[in-house]
Amino acid sequence: MAKSRFEYVKQFERENFLLPQTHIVIRVDGKGFHKFSQHYQFEKPNDVAALSVMNKTAQVMMQQFPDIVLAYGDSDEYLFLMRRDCDLFERREMKLVSTFASYMSVNYLLQWNLAFPDKPISAERIPTFDARAVTYPNHQTVRDYFSWRQVDCHINNLYNTSFWGLIQNCGMTTTEAEEFLKGTVSSDKNEILFTKCGINYNNEPDIFKKGTVLVREYLDWKNTLEQELSDRQKQRQQKLRKKAEIAQHHVDIIKDDFWVQRPWLLN
Ligand code: ATP
Ligand code: ATP
Ligand code: MG
Ligand code: MG
Ligand code: MG
Ligand code: MG
Ligand code: MG
Repeated sequence: MAKSRFEYVKQFERENFLLPQTHIVIRVDGKGFHKFSQHYQFEKPNDVAALSVMNKTAQVMMQQFPDIVLAYGDSDEYLFLMRRDCDLFERREMKLVSTFASYMSVNYLLQWNLAFPDKPISAERIPTFDARAVTYPNHQTVRDYFSWRQVDCHINNLYNTSFWGLIQNCGMTTTEAEEFLKGTVSSDKNEILFTKCGINYNNEPDIFKKGTVLVREYLDWKNTLEQELSDRQKQRQQKLRKKAEIAQHHVDIIKDDFWVQRPWLLN
């Protein structure tokens, strides 16, 4: 490629290479989905079909990026854990973050069109996502990050179920419901749901209470060190990653079980 005298401008670019051998987690979140969900008349508190669009979108992302080992999502957000030795875009932060945001947005639009042929997306309210990448230095911090989001899912869902329960079952206005729930703790909300709305929170679907986990499942996993593999072995591993089944669960990822059963996640 011929060089022009203008090419020096390239030197002004700055690149952040994410620290090697750390666990990269990329989190995407829908922009203005509170309004988006009103515009497209989501069922409240949880629109199952809209959740399924998010989950299908994340599933497609895992097929497109075999370096993703685990994804966790609820509402309009998803976390993607990359395998520790991931070298996608040489770990360039801007590339990773902007690519994930745009893949997420376009995939969501495609999945939306499949799920809602009668509810086309209009130009004044398009689904877009932001993205951020964080590197975590050890197993504990990765797990705490995922735990934080799952606890958040539970807290939000308990609040939203109570809030909409009071509106839909007790005829309260949004202001009245908000006022009624002010200062309540979890046990109060459970009690309110049971006595005022006839809802036993424990019987609510796990997809609402726990969110959605997508994980590559390996039947016979052998622990290997990336540095010790030949190029051919690396290619073979990449093939295995692409072929691995992507399973969907709605389970606790805070306790040890989930991680102990899947040693490849934090390899
Ligand atoms: P921001 O651009 O800052 O992220 P936001 O409006 O997207 O703003 P969030 O905190 O991300 O705010 O919250 C997402 C909102 O989207 C939820 O509060 C909820 O109202 C709505 N939402 C997302 N998914 C669903 C769903 N499946 N069913 C019902 N509501 C949903
Ligand atoms: P990367 O993913 O790293 O950005 P890239 O292949 O997109 O890789 P760029 O450095 O972004 O590479 O360069 C964009 C390239 O896209 C150009 O070199 C050119 O070959 C091609 N291209 C873009 N727009 C046009 C166009 N309108 N007509 C013909 N070719 C185009
Ligand atoms: Mg936000
Ligand atoms: Mg959002
Ligand atoms: Mg959100
Ligand atoms: Mg380029
Ligand atoms: Mg380009």
